[in-house]
Amino acid sequence: MRTLPTYTGDIGGEAIGETLLHEHLFVRQPEVDRALPDVEWDEDRAVHEAVAHLDALHDRGVRTVVDLTVPGLGRDAVLVARVAERTRMRLIAATGWYTHDVLPAYFRLNGPGRLVDGPEPLIELFIGDLTRGIHGTGVRAGVLKVVSDVDGITDDVARVFAAAAVAHQETGAPVFTHSHSPSRGGLEQLDVLERAGVEPHRIVIGHAGDSGDLDYLEELAARGAFLGFDRFGMEHAAPDAQRVAVLLALLEQGLAERIVLSHDAAIHSRMTPPSWRRAHAPRWTMHHLHDRILPLLREKGVGDDEIRTMMRDNPRHVLMGPGNEGR
Ligand SMILES: [Zn+2]
Repeated sequence: MRTLPTYTGDIGGEAIGETLLHEHLFVRQPEVDRALPDVEWDEDRAVHEAVAHLDALHDRGVRTVVDLTVPGLGRDAVLVARVAERTRMRLIAATGWYTHDVLPAYFRLNGPGRLVDGPEPLIELFIGDLTRGIHGTGVRAGVLKVVSDVDGITDDVARVFAAAAVAHQETGAPVFTHSHSPSRGGLEQLDVLERAGVEPHRIVIGHAGDSGDLDYLEELAARGAFLGFDRFGMEHAAPDAQRVAVLLALLEQGLAERIVLSHDAAIHSRMTPPSWRRAHAPRWTMHHLHDRILPLLREKGVGDDEIRTMMRDNPRHVLMGPGNEGR
């Protein structure tokens, strides 16, 4: 039976509880940070802020947070482990590679049939993270993350998807995506992953909730994938008012079992630093769903059972896989 690795030990399905499936603790750019220091970064303060924010989220009822920060986004599992030791929140690590288009130059020259011919390093990385633990820690990743954006499935993006599918087959870990909704990118992601043998109910199409296109979302749901309404508070990607209206329309069709909710927020991000967030996206935090969006949904007639389905049952289903869910 599959158990779920977390930063603080393995758990069974019954322990997962309310879950945010798409968040970030620390998004950094090590190469940039070394050349052009991040003036808003203070490591001890960042750990302290993360613990306080996650404990306050635990007070709101959330028990598990998936940190989808993978290599390419400056994943630092040693630092996240410091947070995990101090917070009541259970944290899950991800493996994968974040790129919208091309991989770092290393990968061009290393891999099967390349100048430095050898096994696919992405497969070694993903399976190593999932089965032995992330470098420098004993912490195993619990999920895979893949990315495609406005450029679609480029050659390098296809390479990441293929490696993730192999790692999924080998370990049973689910596949979470970052998708580009304006170009209906989730459909192509599903095509590629399904062809590689990943079943749709083990896939979350991330950022599907950026879309206002009901036909697109209904098609994703009909194919059996989970739709990530995972950017609440990220008004610069799509307004919350649109996300709520679209979500209500899908719930009206009885699709709660295909939807998961989250924020794609971060404790600290080099891309959109804390000073920018305070000025331009003050509600974009991991508390926003519980403080504003869930009460609004209840006001609009959404039942506690539907909220439980989206916040607890669906995350458990996608994280654990069929037959491993506990109760
Ligand atoms: Zn994200």
